[in-house]
Amino acid sequence: MNYLSTRGHPDRKRFCEILLEGLAPDGGLYLPDHYPQVDTATLAKWRNLPYAELAFEILSLYIDDIPPADLKAICAKTYTPEVFGTEEIVPLRELEDGVYLEALSNGPTLAFKDMAMQLLGNLFEYELARRGAELNILGATSGDTGSAAEYAMRGKKGVRVFMTSPDGRMSPFQQAQMFSLQDENIHNIAVTGVFDDCQDIVKAVSNDLGFKRKYRIGTVNSINWARLLAQVVYYFAGYFQATASNDKPVSFTVPSGNFGNVCAGHVARMMGLPIQTLVVATNENDVLDEFFRTGIYRVRAAADTHETSSPSMDISKASNFERFVFDLVSRDAAKLRSLFVDELGGQGRFDLSGDPAFKQAAERFGFKSSRSTHADRLATIRDTDKRFATLVDPHTADGLKAAREHLAPGVPMVVLETALPIKFAATLVEALGHEPARPARFEGIEALPKRVVKLPADAEAVKAYIAQNCD
Ligand SMILES: *Cc1c(COP(=O)(O)O)cnc(C)c1O
Repeated sequence: MNYLSTRGHPDRKRFCEILLEGLAPDGGLYLPDHYPQVDTATLAKWRNLPYAELAFEILSLYIDDIPPADLKAICAKTYTPEVFGTEEIVPLRELEDGVYLEALSNGPTLAFKDMAMQLLGNLFEYELARRGAELNILGATSGDTGSAAEYAMRGKKGVRVFMTSPDGRMSPFQQAQMFSLQDENIHNIAVTGVFDDCQDIVKAVSNDLGFKRKYRIGTVNSINWARLLAQVVYYFAGYFQATASNDKPVSFTVPSGNFGNVCAGHVARMMGLPIQTLVVATNENDVLDEFFRTGIYRVRAAADTHETSSPSMDISKASNFERFVFDLVSRDAAKLRSLFVDELGGQGRFDLSGDPAFKQAAERFGFKSSRSTHADRLATIRDTDKRFATLVDPHTADGLKAAREHLAPGVPMVVLETALPIKFAATLVEALGHEPARPARFEGIEALPKRVVKLPADAEAVKAYIAQNCD
């Protein structure tokens, strides 16, 4: 399998070459040069496979530069009941007639990002050992991504994590999750500033090419193809659980921010998984909902990006969206470049409303969308508790609300549960008047010793800290 850039760079690369890379050299995103097709006979073979074996089958179609036995071992080591809590790994349950919740949040940090990040940790360790190389991951987080990355990389050989976060601005639970890690290769850096300061520091350090090369700085952000690929697997697993045979369509609703999760659904659908509709659920930061309603993609300014009660979806632009638009414009790289480089780069927006391609988003690719407000999420959390004795987190509530707007008779609707409610306890208290139950392994984590350094919002200070801790 070869990978190409959405912006038309002539190079073709193999999976392990792009595994440790971010953007393509021309600023585009990597995609496979074709989507392998899965026929009914293959679906039939896969239907009853355990999750780790299903993961191996799907990954094998995209990864041909890791020997199969090694890839199989990596999948088996990643997707275990010990790490993800159940044999099914992503158990599905029916909430009401035709509406299902697929549990993706029973990994180490209680959010769906573990599904991909745990695999990435094992792939990184494998590939770095094979190359005899090291990697220092530098990141910025306001919650979910940082903790998922730290739990995936803790104790891994050849990898260090330097994770910046805005001092005092994460929830006490999220702080405790990250800062209680005592592993030597994990470095928490609390920056006196806001999340944007952290992101600016990461950018400044990455733009210092000399430093970047000398200290082998890398990232694990959501544009990484391996993360997206790992997420394709649970669309198949959800499909098999929601149906009894492979001729039945299923729809998915996906709480969305950077368009990573739902882009994996798009890939599964392109491979031939019978997905009828992919519902993109957004909060008040409705960049994506606006596009799917109007054909206009408009990046928001920082001042127009709202802080909401589903904070992991608070985005000003959707960093994986370019992958879908590439398929939408029939993989015409020149057209893609004019949209993302000329128009988006110039005016911060592009308009496909008059373009025949836009119609394809719904008609050919099955996309629909909705948005929710804080009041909608509170109402959904209360209603789900009252009618089904089930607690959902605010992101999953976004999804449930959107799902109900796009139900079709006879087509199961699977809502992806992207976090457990305990991660967003304050909103649950606001909705219900009490805290959600906490899994036993997180009892009392706020009282554990914390491993964190405090640094000013200054890239030089962060560079000095990295240099000191790399030997
Ligand atoms: C990251 C995240 C999302 C958004 O996922 P994308 O892949 O960025 O669309 C939604 N919910 C939760 C809880 C998350 O952590």
